Amino acid sequence: MVTMAGYLDELDITLVEEGFTTKDLLENLLTEAFQTGNREAFFVADLGDVVKKHLRLLKALPRVKPFYAPKCNRSKGVVQMLARLGAGFGCANKPELALVKSAGVPSDRIICTGPCKQISQIRYAASQGVQLMTFDNEVELGKVAWSHPSARMVLSLATDESRSSCRSSMKFGATLKSCRHLLETAKDMNVEVVGVSFHIGSSCTDPQIFTQSIADARLVFEMGAELGYKMRLLDIGGGFSGVEEAKGCFEEATTVVNSALDLYFPEGCGVEIIAELGRYYVDSAFTFVVNIVTKKDVPLHQPGSEDEDLRGKKSFIYHLNDGIYGSFGSVLFNNMCPIPILHKKSSPDPALYSSSLWGPTGDSLDCIAEGLELPELQIGDWLIFETMGAHARPAASSLSGAQPARIYYAMSRVAWEAVRLLQGKVLPAEEEDRESTCTPLSCGWEITDALCIAPILTPESIM
Ligand SMILES: *Cc1c(COP(=O)(O)O)cnc(C)c1O
Repeated sequence: MVTMAGYLDELDITLVEEGFTTKDLLENLLTEAFQTGNREAFFVADLGDVVKKHLRLLKALPRVKPFYAPKCNRSKGVVQMLARLGAGFGCANKPELALVKSAGVPSDRIICTGPCKQISQIRYAASQGVQLMTFDNEVELGKVAWSHPSARMVLSLATDESRSSCRSSMKFGATLKSCRHLLETAKDMNVEVVGVSFHIGSSCTDPQIFTQSIADARLVFEMGAELGYKMRLLDIGGGFSGVEEAKGCFEEATTVVNSALDLYFPEGCGVEIIAELGRYYVDSAFTFVVNIVTKKDVPLHQPGSEDEDLRGKKSFIYHLNDGIYGSFGSVLFNNMCPIPILHKKSSPDPALYSSSLWGPTGDSLDCIAEGLELPELQIGDWLIFETMGAHARPAASSLSGAQPARIYYAMSRVAWEAVRLLQGKVLPAEEEDRESTCTPLSCGWEITDALCIAPILTPESIM
């Protein structure tokens, strides 16, 4: 194991050799924690997984430029890695914008997407030279016309849920009916409208909603043309799942997107297409490790109850040192019930107890999981949660009172080589490092089979 410090600004990334997984790194960290007595919760993030997702996306949606929505996970490692890979960014607020700018992302690769933008945010975007902004109503349009007259606006279209089995949780976007009026209003205000965006929402399971939305966008482009606009940007939003089990769904959705684009925005039509993905990039890359701080047992047999089966039986309540006001924000956002992996090996056939996991706040909403069947655990035991990258890192919440959990970044050498190649320039390798670097990638991308790229891609063809 080699530690390479300093390549991503002040980030430390542990470079792991082939065959050495992030699980091994996690074991090392837990051994270290055992020795030092440190029981803080932490993440292990496999940035190689983020790179893999990026390459998979470029291959699956060859006409689409990937943008990342940092509202899903603002961790510096992810933002800096994607900045290096040439992704764009869809920022919902000022702190996200500042984070992305600090990663050196050029302003023409940023779009401001928040549905209700504070004037100070619009002014900040203007001061940073960020021009692309979405809007879905007259008031927002007026705010931008006033505080950022050179903005290039993107009309955000509501996805039509009535024609799909999917119910998106998104409560923004203009209806198709209101678009003509909005475009006319923009004309009156002298605001430039350069394109259309939509976001199908994160709980959508019906990929046909993409076809409908892309068709709707086409109609708005035509309205715009009638009013004399030259629209040339289509933003198809996010909504792709990032868990490995959903790979089939990803392939299905991207196939649907490609055919709809070919139909409504054929190659050569002069429209630039971007997607703005959140969960897809980060979900599977993050593993969270958390410690049990309190334990209570609750007898299942209530005094006076006739139910003799329950006599002598109990369930357990465990409090962990992080909860939904911290790193388990995904429980609220994604409506998911996280299932832990136990770090301690239990006896071959342990007795199982109904168990619930709670955060440290004592708040009645701070419930991470209920109704789990687990062996009896002890204070100080570690629980491991996989696919914790999406919405797991809010800004430190005042309720939890804790600092955000530390993230240990790791990636394989192969992934690191891919990043260096994608960047189009070779980063300075440290002396002793140069020798042990695996086969140079002069041959193109074959070597990166492990990164799921089938045909030989050159950096040029990818960028
Ligand atoms: C959150 C968000 C996204 C990303 O959504 P995912 O489902 O995480 O991919 C994209 N576009 C907009 C406008 C968003 O608000």
